[in-house]
Amino acid sequence: GDPASVPLREDFPTGATNPYGRSKLMVEEILRDLAKSDPRWAIVLLRYFNPVGAHESGLIGEDPNGIPNNLLPFVTQVAAGQRDALPVFGNDYATPDGTGVRDYIHVTDLVRGHVLALEKLLSLPNANACCNTYNLGTGQGYSVLDIVRAFERLNNVSVPYRIQPRREGDVAACWADPTLAANELGWRAELTLDDMLLDSWRWQQTVLRNA
Ligand code: UDP
Repeated sequence: GDPASVPLREDFPTGATNPYGRSKLMVEEILRDLAKSDPRWAIVLLRYFNPVGAHESGLIGEDPNGIPNNLLPFVTQVAAGQRDALPVFGNDYATPDGTGVRDYIHVTDLVRGHVLALEKLLSLPNANACCNTYNLGTGQGYSVLDIVRAFERLNNVSVPYRIQPRREGDVAACWADPTLAANELGWRAELTLDDMLLDSWRWQQTVLRNA
């Protein structure tokens, strides 16, 4: 939901500002009920912040069909000349530059979080554990324009953008308090925003070569 304060902790009240968010909340509820109804299940809930980037090899990444919904695939397609300009959804939010602030996390860090969460589940004495909940984020927020500028500088490309109206259901700012995952899973995001943006661009070039 729209957080009362940031960074977000796992024990904050939950809510949803759009159907996609509500679907995630429903899945958490389903999993809690599943664990209650069937003792064979052991469940951990991982709350992803904004996963971006690609495998550093440039061989595994996301190539969305149609018009990308998410920021990074849109940025890489504009940089590649496949689209004219990035629509920036709102520049009048209560954030330092007016654009939305998010906690971007490298997909490889996210993968490591899953491995550590599974190891933790397997180590628990109670086989039907449910439902430890962990934020997987870096704890650091970047605005849309931070991302555009950093992407241009790192990859030496141009990403023209146009300010558009706000997108319905978006919140101004959202970033994680990742302390619980650090304390209980021994997990911390290790890769930087630079890694995320370099790896996203390397992947986009693989997509272009194979087009
Ligand atoms: N965003 C944008 N233009 C786009 C896609 C996204 O300005 O074409 C903004 C969006 O308003 C939000 C941020 O980028 O502030 C991240 O959006 P995304 O859809 O990637 O993830 P979300 O936070 O909505 O899950």
